[in-house]
Amino acid sequence: MARPSVGTPVLPGFLEPHAQGHSLRVWCRWCCAWHGHGYDGTPVGETTHRGAHCYAPDSEYNDTDYWIRVTGTPFSTARRAIRTATAAQQRAIRSRRISGAVQQLRDQAPPAA
Ligand SMILES: [Zn+2]
Repeated sequence: MARPSVGTPVLPGFLEPHAQGHSLRVWCRWCCAWHGHGYDGTPVGETTHRGAHCYAPDSEYNDTDYWIRVTGTPFSTARRAIRTATAAQQRAIRSRRISGAVQQLRDQAPPAA
């Protein structure tokens, strides 16, 4: 079983069913959006490694990549607990303009079981 290396973030991942199987969704506090990844069948409670591919220029995840711990919480539940950035806020994040409102988005944490 693959294990996270020291210093690499481990983030909760949420399964989203679709017609061809599942996607693995991760809340990214840097771009204030849900990253989407392919799901490789990693069981709930175990971890899988991914590149972050984050659009936020100050994203720490692009330096480190991250590990995703697959949770038993469905994405449909997790997404209701999180507010994502608006299009205008996304433009600001790309320009490294981090307002108080964006910082509040970044301070959110999704529920993970
Ligand atoms: Zn991101």
